[in-house]
Amino acid sequence: MKEKNPVILSRDQHPISRKQIDPDCLKVLYRLHRHGYKAYLVGGSVRDLLLGRQPKDFDIGTDATPSQVRKLFRNCFLVGRRFRLAHIRFSGNKIIEVATFRREPDADELPDDPDEHFHFVQNVFGTACEDAHRRDFTINALFYNIADFSVIDYVNGLEDLFNKQLRVIGDPLVRFVEDPVRMLRALEFAARLDFSLDDNILQAIHTHKALLATAAPARVREETMELFRRGIAGRVLEQCRQLGLLPHLLAGYPGTDEGIALLEKIDQRTHSGTDIPESLSIAALYLRLFMDSCPPTADINLTQVLHKANEIITPHCRYFSIAGGIRHDARELLIGCFRLARGRGFRGEKRFLQSPQLPKILELFRLWSEVRPQLAPLLQEWRQASHNHQTQSPKKARSGQRPARRRTRRKKSAPGHKPS
Ligand code: ATP
Ligand code: MG
Repeated sequence: MKEKNPVILSRDQHPISRKQIDPDCLKVLYRLHRHGYKAYLVGGSVRDLLLGRQPKDFDIGTDATPSQVRKLFRNCFLVGRRFRLAHIRFSGNKIIEVATFRREPDADELPDDPDEHFHFVQNVFGTACEDAHRRDFTINALFYNIADFSVIDYVNGLEDLFNKQLRVIGDPLVRFVEDPVRMLRALEFAARLDFSLDDNILQAIHTHKALLATAAPARVREETMELFRRGIAGRVLEQCRQLGLLPHLLAGYPGTDEGIALLEKIDQRTHSGTDIPESLSIAALYLRLFMDSCPPTADINLTQVLHKANEIITPHCRYFSIAGGIRHDARELLIGCFRLARGRGFRGEKRFLQSPQLPKILELFRLWSEVRPQLAPLLQEWRQASHNHQTQSPKKARSGQRPARRRTRRKKSAPGHKPS
């Protein structure tokens, strides 16, 4: 690749101050620099600092190889089978990630065994310019150079940042085939930053949407959870639905108007500072489909409801290898909403009112009732019932447990009992 001259903003031409950079990250940058290596802040942190936002983490790019980095830091560990990285550990479990600049290898450099391609491609070291070009979006490929506090731009990212425009580096048709997760990331960053999407990104997503189903489920799950963490799940998943990407993203999930509206309510909750557990996001995604499959008016017992809940969420949980505990909680939320929607007066109500899951179930039902106002009177009734139950038996309700059964002690020397 021909090296291009980058656009460079000197310290007085940009707003990034060292005071905004994590002090441990600064230590690592300075030490690399003092030993003669290039030391850049890279990726999301430069983008966020230029936008006046607080970065989630500070990553470093350098021309030192991982083993050269390790020699400089006692607290350094090399990690990553797929992507070799140096982790510098600091107190409080803080990790500063240092990656050696990478480049895309030429076709004739690839190993003969196609199975080894992916690993090989991730680990070919290159120059800073090459490293910028292998990144996903122009705004994610800016560097901050500790040597002179300048910002370095090889890909026109500064202009796109200024124009609030998300643009893929290179041709999206090619870059999405290389890594289909970039399609989801494009929608995610545009929503997160309120940037507009280049037209060719939307067209390329339309063309290559089915490829997302071939991406590693663990990566897709991580990016999807990021949508919930950022409070943009409703917006982005609706966009995925319109683009036909949604079923390829979520193991065949078709999406419903009501499901998306519920996600928007959950996003509002996230914006007000509440963490959304994954079980709640799964239950919200599938609530409408679940309720369609077992309407509260149907003559159906709780065992059948449990089977329905399993049928609905199991393909999702299997596909994304979701832990049994999360799956169990999601299922309990669905069944709980069914019980609330069915109304009061059924068998087992007293125990249900003692369930430790009830507050979470009521919360999901509350969000649902905002989407379906006809549920509001039922919500009120159940809230009252829960309140009455707590005030009548505060201890039991607080612990959420049934009183322990009295155990009868087995006599040590009962007749016929052989000590083992
Ligand atoms: P966040 O604030 O969510 O951490 P980020 O931009 O730092 O945003 P990361 O997922 O942490 O995003 O990735 C760090 C950087 O690695 C990105 O800024 C981008 O330059 C590069 N990157 C990440 N994923 C890809 C990808 N799939 N293809 C190419 N480059 C990527
Ligand atoms: Mg990051």
